[in-house]
Amino acid sequence: SEDSAPLLDYDLLVIGGGSGGLACAKEAAQLGRRVAVMDYVEPSPRGTRWGLGGTCVNVGCIPKKLMHQAALLGGMIRDARHYGWEVAQPVPHSWRKMAEAVQNHVKSLNWGHRVQLQDRKVKYFNVKASFVNEHTVRGVAKDGKETLLSADNIVIATGGRPRYPTQIEGALEYGITSDDIFWLKESPGKTLVVGAGYVALECAGFLTGIGLDTTVMIRSVPLRSFDQQMSSLVTEYMASHGTRFLRGCTPSQVRRLPAGRLQVTWEDRTSGKEDTDTFDTVLWAIGRVPETGSLNLEKSGVKTSPDSQKILVDSWDATSVPHIYAIGDVAEGRPELTPTAIMAGRLLAQRLFGPSSALMDYDNVPTTVFTPLEYGCVGLSEEEAVARHGQEHVEVYHAYYKPLEFTVAERDASQCYIKMVCLREPPQLVLGLHFLGPNAGEVTQGFALGIRCGASYAQVMRTVGIHPTCSEEVVRLRISKRSGLDPTVTGC
Ligand code: FAD
Ligand code: NDP
Repeated sequence: SEDSAPLLDYDLLVIGGGSGGLACAKEAAQLGRRVAVMDYVEPSPRGTRWGLGGTCVNVGCIPKKLMHQAALLGGMIRDARHYGWEVAQPVPHSWRKMAEAVQNHVKSLNWGHRVQLQDRKVKYFNVKASFVNEHTVRGVAKDGKETLLSADNIVIATGGRPRYPTQIEGALEYGITSDDIFWLKESPGKTLVVGAGYVALECAGFLTGIGLDTTVMIRSVPLRSFDQQMSSLVTEYMASHGTRFLRGCTPSQVRRLPAGRLQVTWEDRTSGKEDTDTFDTVLWAIGRVPETGSLNLEKSGVKTSPDSQKILVDSWDATSVPHIYAIGDVAEGRPELTPTAIMAGRLLAQRLFGPSSALMDYDNVPTTVFTPLEYGCVGLSEEEAVARHGQEHVEVYHAYYKPLEFTVAERDASQCYIKMVCLREPPQLVLGLHFLGPNAGEVTQGFALGIRCGASYAQVMRTVGIHPTCSEEVVRLRISKRSGLDPTVTGC
């Protein structure tokens, strides 16, 4: 009961043991403070559960990138015979083996996070947290046991969870989300992915890549928040490699057929017609809901946005209550990315307990969408650059290029494309870089440093390339869109 629960005191209590929370807790402990972390994973509606580390480790970046790699390997096996490897075709893929290997790696990361907390003397509680008052938090364990903790500073880093549609019959009963897909023991089979954000396209990409019949249902446009020319190329490549796209469609019903398959009915919003097909799996990838509902925030005074339910924060990451902070996916207006959550967490701990006053800078955050043809970007989209500076003041340099690896393998490179968005006035400050091709994340990371340091087009052109790579195509971007010249790279 509340009376018998011990009252403990910490300099910092972190709610949520994901990317942001763990980084903040470890940094504060490193600075010599008494720190506690409360983390608890509510099983998905399908009953999937996992360990310490949050979304990225368990149901996000890590298992996603590994399954993406599994899919890329399939492509390389097909390439291999062009390079002399006598691989018997077709090569079957075992979901079971892939999933087990990925899940084992994730479990090792769960363990690693626990050890790191122990090593740094951060007290870890596997409890679900909710506020009692502005300095006190109640934690409830799986067996119902309560822990009451109080702290001078509290950081909320509870992230978010996949959204389920509320109006669609059968959606919750029969559908799964990204919280389940990486933990399936058996192949999902023929899959319908609903949604067109990062999660939808990445999942559809690796499912197609490992040989599954995959359909993506898009109600409006793919990758809404990204450069739209790049986003079209991403889906064009996927379509030409076997992913089926249903555009302008919204599902209305999911029914379970006697044989166990799922019959999905949808409306084509342009024709107004209804259509239907049968799938083994329906994956909802329609965005994420911030995990604020269970925190009893009323008791703390912390304010959320009425639209997004995310926690309102200032540039210090402080909420409406000065000693309570929020970082990562749960905080309003922040990119939903692991590295930003980690950096925000570390900087917050340094501001609270160290000599630093540095704030997190959310400009020029690089990211990569790990679709079959990867899309890396940093800075502004072409649309955003034009909106901010006007068409007249923006110069876009671009190229369609062919990765050397694609030539011998006889791969189609129609969507391998790069564009650099610059200010038109010399020295033409670089506003954004967009790269579509192999290893986009590896390519984009280094250029992100340049752009952060204020690189100009002139400086990029004075940068010597590394030959032969795809990255060097960035430092060879000579053709402007405005010139109307053919941007296809020819020769060496
Ligand atoms: P989380 O990592 O979500 O951690 C929150 C933790 O708090 C969880 O463990 C949760 O269970 C716990 N919690 C919630 N409520 C409570 C409570 N009341 N009490 C106790 N504990 C609680 N980002 C990238 O940068 N690159 C990628 O490639 C990438 N891929 C992704 C792929 C997918 C499929 C998804 C879904 C996301 C991906 N992301 C990626 C985004 C990234 O995972 C998140 O931005 C990041 O994990 C956010 O960190 P966080 O600390 O805010 O929250
Ligand atoms: P997003 O918010 O990016 O996209 C949601 C998608 O679902 C949109 O295409 C939206 O369509 C669609 N949608 C929403 N509601 C419905 C509905 N009722 N019916 C049909 N479609 C619907 O969410 P994600 O889950 O893809 O990603 C969440 C965040 O996670 C991202 O913002 C990203 O920062 C992070 N992430 C990062 C990754 C990386 O770095 N590689 C990978 C994966 C995730 P519409 O445009 O019509 O509204």
